[in-house]
Amino acid sequence: MKKDDCIFCRIANGEIPSDTLYEDDFARVILDLNPASKGHALILPKEHYADLFELPEEEAARVLSTAKKVAPAMMKALGAAGMNLVQNNGAAAGQTVKHFHLHLIPRYEGGPRMCSWEEGKSDPAEQKRIAEAVKAEL
Ligand code: AMP
Ligand code: ZN
Repeated sequence: MKKDDCIFCRIANGEIPSDTLYEDDFARVILDLNPASKGHALILPKEHYADLFELPEEEAARVLSTAKKVAPAMMKALGAAGMNLVQNNGAAAGQTVKHFHLHLIPRYEGGPRMCSWEEGKSDPAEQKRIAEAVKAEL
């Protein structure tokens, strides 16, 4: 289903113009308006799913096959040395647009620097408790 008030639905389905790198029946890959690095792109499914947890299995597989198709072409065209795939779910995780999208962020020798997390210290007993708590929910 598409949502009329969702900007990514409208971009993915061509109602709003975008700098498109790739399009097929499933998704459109566009350049991000506020790139973290040169060529930062987004894979947007044409159907509306708020986040990864709403995305059906088959579509999830298609997202990765789209990334595997487009990311190497981006790296070649841009001379990138690496590629980060980033995917935010929920405002607490930094998701600002509630339509599933996968970021393709090319990385270059010498920068730009990307924000990362600070390494914490793990406690073996707590690690075990976490593992048990998660396994109990599966
Ligand atoms: P996220 O924070 O994971 O929800 O990512 C949303 C991304 O969408 C950000 O990187 C924005 O720069 C990008 N974005 C928002 N609006 C547009 C737009 N109209 N065209 C292209 N990228 C957009
Ligand atoms: Zn949408």
